Amino acid sequence: METLSEILDALRRPLDMAARDGHARIGRIRGLERTIPALAEQGAARARSAQARAALGELASTFAGYAVLDPDARRAAVDQGLVLLERARQAGESAPAAAPDALRVPITRFRGVGEEIAGKLARLGIRTAWDALWTLPRTYEERLPPRPVRAIRQNTIATLDARVLSLTPPRRARSGLRIFEAIFEDETGTIPAVWYNFVPRLSPGQRVRVVGPVEAVRGRRRFRVPEIIYLRAGEQAPDDPDLGRIVPVYPLTEGLGERRLRSLLRQVVDEVAPRAPELIPGAIIRELGLPPLAEALRTVHFPPPGADLHALEKGATPAHRRLAFEELFFLELHLALVRRDIARAPASACPGGGRLERRLFDRLPFALTGAQRRALREIGTDLARPHPMNRLLQGDVGSGKTVVALLAAARAIDAGAQAAIMAPTEILAEQHFRTIEPLLSAAGARAALLTAGVSKAERARTLRGVAEGAIGLLVGTHAVIVDAVRFARLAFAVVDEQHRFGVAQRMALREKGTRPDSAEEPHLLVMTATPIPRSLALTVFGDLDLSVIDEMPPGREPVETRHFTEKDRRKVYAQIRETAGAGRQVFVVYPLVSESEKVDLRDATRMAEALRMEFSDLEVGLVHGQMKPAEKNAVMARFKRGAIHVLVATTVVEVGIDVPNATLMVVEHAERFGLSQLHQLRGRVGRGGGRSRCHLLTPPLAPGSEAARRMRVMEATQDGFRIAEEDLAIRGPGDFLGTRQHGLPNLRVASLLGQAPLISRAREAAQALVASEPSLSKPEHVPLWAGLDLHREALGLLRAG
Ligand code: ADP
Ligand code: MG
Repeated sequence: METLSEILDALRRPLDMAARDGHARIGRIRGLERTIPALAEQGAARARSAQARAALGELASTFAGYAVLDPDARRAAVDQGLVLLERARQAGESAPAAAPDALRVPITRFRGVGEEIAGKLARLGIRTAWDALWTLPRTYEERLPPRPVRAIRQNTIATLDARVLSLTPPRRARSGLRIFEAIFEDETGTIPAVWYNFVPRLSPGQRVRVVGPVEAVRGRRRFRVPEIIYLRAGEQAPDDPDLGRIVPVYPLTEGLGERRLRSLLRQVVDEVAPRAPELIPGAIIRELGLPPLAEALRTVHFPPPGADLHALEKGATPAHRRLAFEELFFLELHLALVRRDIARAPASACPGGGRLERRLFDRLPFALTGAQRRALREIGTDLARPHPMNRLLQGDVGSGKTVVALLAAARAIDAGAQAAIMAPTEILAEQHFRTIEPLLSAAGARAALLTAGVSKAERARTLRGVAEGAIGLLVGTHAVIVDAVRFARLAFAVVDEQHRFGVAQRMALREKGTRPDSAEEPHLLVMTATPIPRSLALTVFGDLDLSVIDEMPPGREPVETRHFTEKDRRKVYAQIRETAGAGRQVFVVYPLVSESEKVDLRDATRMAEALRMEFSDLEVGLVHGQMKPAEKNAVMARFKRGAIHVLVATTVVEVGIDVPNATLMVVEHAERFGLSQLHQLRGRVGRGGGRSRCHLLTPPLAPGSEAARRMRVMEATQDGFRIAEEDLAIRGPGDFLGTRQHGLPNLRVASLLGQAPLISRAREAAQALVASEPSLSKPEHVPLWAGLDLHREALGLLRAG
């Protein structure tokens, strides 16, 4: 037996027979305990869908003990077997036409795709028919009837029937591009065309059709990378199926022309799209008034006559919306399942109200703000449950997240377990430790610090204390704790300033935090000072519950923010002097450590020297990322003590350093920083009461430039949320989150900008489904698993760590 469907048929025959006429002949059918498991295992080995494999596995085990069952149980086994078989059929490739696996046919099965082309397609991420269907046109062109050279206008897509007049040999541009030119003529004139890294097959005198965009270079028209359509012998005009239509324009990769891609997509759309099964329950799609998947795929690739070109170009057709919804829905379904799994996993319940918590509370030097109390209540409710918390605590810089985390950690310790607070940098970890340790030890619990900078002996002691459970709270850098530590009983993990983590990273962290001898997972609290725009909260952070601290501790004044250009440097220096004279301290922040990048930036090292000359009576310190941890710490400690008046720093101060006496923040080359970064930097001052300032220094900026816009936003508002939304709009989600490992889903159609309403709909639909049937095992839900299989990989949801 070759295929899964043959195996399923072979399984079905005896079961059908056994079930017929109210199981009348069941006694005559023998050997089911051998044949069914054997066949089911063969089938499972062949099935590509996880659902089908699971169903066949269950089938095998159902029949393994068939021989010893009593008659009633045998009948039940046969019925159950048929149900499982049907489930396997629906999920597996044996399903007629609508088999999701048919979508995975390798692209090499299509006409004209040999090894070489396949390699090029792979560079576009196309390996299967499904990949190709989701490679959407980057734009569209309307193919108008041919016009004579004289009538061709610049900035249009033109069609021309002409002769090749001359060809120039390829030449190399300074950029390394190979440039190739040809000139075409007809009765009314001549027009050149240009290609890059591509030489079309042309010979002088040949008659061809030229189709493509016409640009003007120094007032002269030319075709830019047009397509060439060749005439067959004796033809006056080519047989051109695209003429008069709106045609798709695909993303290009070197050596793969538009025409070739288009003809491949035509094959794939004709052969595969009509059979594309609905993966999402029909009711959801109908309620949104969206077209079926097959139709949407066809329309997006090959719009019908009369389609709205403008809407197509903007990706704003119902077909585009349908596809955007499809990927958002599967993203949200994935998140809903992550949440479901977390909600089912066991965790230590930490009820609160214990002794350590009460003592800490009594020792706090201030009263909690209302927002802090609310956040603590929300966290406390989660901690009290025997399932893991998975929560994001968002609060502007200085809003007091640390103390909330500490009080929550006390609950874990009161419950006889342990807590960990992880920071992205050593300096931050140490700062947390210095605030937390005295409070905790006065209240009668032990805390320890673990960073790369800790001595060997100390480290060994700490690791032992943590493994034995003697240390209740461990503070350290994220990397060190995750890599090196085994806890006796970790119940609560806090990750500070890690808004850069995505869903997959959080999953990995939770797994690492799980003890090998128990299935219990730690409660997880992620803290961030970056307000998370709604679209990201629904996607990148969509597995998390959200608590917000939206109120500052009393006495915080807004930070007066001003933009200065180079010519006002003296004024800024005068402010530095005045601030230091009043007994306050100053941060001066630089975007780079050295001039290694040959960018004309004043680097922090040289600038510190210059400032030392300028302010010979003041103590100027320097801290940057290339320094050894011990050196860094020494400088930071002196700044905190007030022994340094002006601290020149690279962006290490960005994330959370607390020096209440610092009231002036000068940002050099402020144009190099994103809005959220600037806002974070500004949050370093204004913590000690009294008036604080932030001066943004830049070279002269073009009015209306994006950098100028950022400076204006900073001057105009202190509202972190508004700033984050602006930042997201300016930079896009990837740069907004700031690193490669941000865990952004790789959306091909939908965008995280401006689609929050559609994301919400997708989320509601996915959550309702999982709420109604958490295992998603009803027959009508089987295609969902295929959809998850098909989309997860492309969305990058499986990437971890
Ligand atoms: P962030 O939210 O940026 O991490 P921190 O937790 O570092 O803020 O708190 C900033 C400062 O505010 C710390 O010095 C902290 O002791 C202080 N603080 C926190 N909560 C309060 C409060 N309710 N009243 C007064 N000061 C507070
Ligand atoms: Mg903090």
